[in-house]
Amino acid sequence: MIVRKLYDSHVHLLMTGQTRLGLSLSSFCRPEDFKNLKLNSFSYRGDWLYGFGWDENKFQNINLHRTTLDQHYPDRPVFWVRADGHSSWLNTEALKRVGFMDANSEIFKSYKDYIPLGNDGLTTGVLKEAAHMFVYTKLPASEAAQTKDFLLEGLQVFREAGFTHLRDMTSSFEQLALARELEQSQQLQMHIEHNFVFENEMDLSKLVREVVKQKQMDTKFLKSRGIKFFYDGSLGSETALLSRPYPSGKSGILGFSDQQVREIITESWKAGLDVSVHIIGDEAAHRIVHLAREVSAKGLLGRIHLEHVQVLRPETILMMKSLHVHCHLQPCHWLSDRAWLKEKLGTLYEYSFPWEALRRAQIPFSFGSDSPIEPASLFSNLQALQLSSKSGIPSLKLQDLTSPHVYPHRDSFETETHFENESVKKIIFL
Ligand SMILES: [Zn+2]
Repeated sequence: MIVRKLYDSHVHLLMTGQTRLGLSLSSFCRPEDFKNLKLNSFSYRGDWLYGFGWDENKFQNINLHRTTLDQHYPDRPVFWVRADGHSSWLNTEALKRVGFMDANSEIFKSYKDYIPLGNDGLTTGVLKEAAHMFVYTKLPASEAAQTKDFLLEGLQVFREAGFTHLRDMTSSFEQLALARELEQSQQLQMHIEHNFVFENEMDLSKLVREVVKQKQMDTKFLKSRGIKFFYDGSLGSETALLSRPYPSGKSGILGFSDQQVREIITESWKAGLDVSVHIIGDEAAHRIVHLAREVSAKGLLGRIHLEHVQVLRPETILMMKSLHVHCHLQPCHWLSDRAWLKEKLGTLYEYSFPWEALRRAQIPFSFGSDSPIEPASLFSNLQALQLSSKSGIPSLKLQDLTSPHVYPHRDSFETETHFENESVKKIIFL
């Protein structure tokens, strides 16, 4: 099998490298696993112990609580990211350093919706969404040498899976500068689109100006695309905004107000940048499409990318038609979510993983992995397409199911990835 311009349309490149080099918690499930953790210099950010990939559904006799970590790490701050990238597990020392152990502190109050409390009235040590992201952005930076190692390792992960085109959703100017050095020394061999995250407390105009500046330096391999923001959460943590409550009674949460969303879209489009929005729930998607239409009705033109779109109502898809919209889906998420998807979504299940509905409506869409949340793999997505169609997800009626994995724009060179028995035989840059 040969695939042209093999594209992963939603990746976290640096985190992918960091996850493979650093502390992986993907098989962490029993108390004795604390002794077996493989720590090395990549497991730390400053003096913080940083790990990725735990999932409480796998835990046996492990209490998901800060005091469990305290028993093993009483003095060193610990920050362990959950497998879905939307929550983290911290020990008491880490929580003290960011001010979350004091329920009267201003910082605690501003994030309290995202900090579950235990019976003692204090945080359990699990942080969700905005509180998780807040601490994540406050971690000591990796050393420049480490960032380069993470970048090289991340590129290696995707090369091994045959990818030649990536769309990075959490790039940084430091990472882009390092990638330019690699391109100049002909070590890059990967087409990368860069998107830069906007968070609540940041200066939007400043970020837009900086991305515009980077875009003027686009090269054969490296393109700066625009601004990305997280609008709702995830289905796993029941923070994605659905049009109905979850069976638990919870409903999702939004990270930005309508007015903020209008501003982000307006400023980005005025500057010629793309906007990418993390949306999982059907109601979050509906609101974003509505707000983007409001901005475009004022005569502004621009491209909007909808990331994940795990649940879309038919009327939302219809409303997309008047926009320059591109959807990005990760069929592999279905493989991980299928255990509880029907239960959480109820009657919305029929609108989940809507690739076939998008195809019928002729809305452009691409496939990706969300690596390191899911492994970078063309075949895992193909498997998910096949299995999901047996579980009530309408099957994608395309002649060639790899076509959503082909880089969709004209501004790049041609490549060919040759596979034999699902493993990469060779990659050709034409
Ligand atoms: Zn992602």
